[in-house]
Amino acid sequence: MTLTIDYDFRKQIRSYNASLDYCFQCSTCTGICPVAQLTNGDFNPRKLIEASLLGLKDMLIEEPKVWYCLTCQKCVELCPQKVELTEIFDVIKNYCVKEGKIPEAFNSQAISVLETGVALPFSDPIMKRRRQLGLEDYKTVDPKEIKTLLKSIGFDKLLRFDTPTTDKKEGGK
Ligand code: SF4
Ligand code: SF4
Repeated sequence: MTLTIDYDFRKQIRSYNASLDYCFQCSTCTGICPVAQLTNGDFNPRKLIEASLLGLKDMLIEEPKVWYCLTCQKCVELCPQKVELTEIFDVIKNYCVKEGKIPEAFNSQAISVLETGVALPFSDPIMKRRRQLGLEDYKTVDPKEIKTLLKSIGFDKLLRFDTPTTDKKEGGK
């Protein structure tokens, strides 16, 4: 992949979260990250921050590893420079969504929220188990209301409805 610096992209991330500028690439974030450990460094928060600093938009969006982040905040707690990594990752994810690069696993969850009001609808076995444990049936607000609200802000226009609902290759690591 050709690496092109996108100055507007970099400027926009910095305007959303100026803490990006303070990263001095110490790698504490990667050292503490559970996903980095699980993926043997394939997911590397330090590299994502470096790419953001350099404005490498194509790399960040075409290889959307940013979605592997669990938002556990360990890196944010330990970063010596107080870089707000997860906030920066959110900006990148928003770019991915706007450019139709949302991984299928997240796309299907978003469709589920639109259609049912929850990301992971409760199945009959789960409801049965809840009753066995003496818990009330899970209830959500009226899904029609959620759909109306989400459509009013154009949420549905950001999603892809022409793809399979699950894709184990993406977002499943
Ligand atoms: S821990 Fe903070 S300063 Fe160090 S590489 Fe990560 S983001 Fe940059
Ligand atoms: S918030 Fe994300 S990048 Fe930071 S340690 Fe957790 S999984 Fe890793």
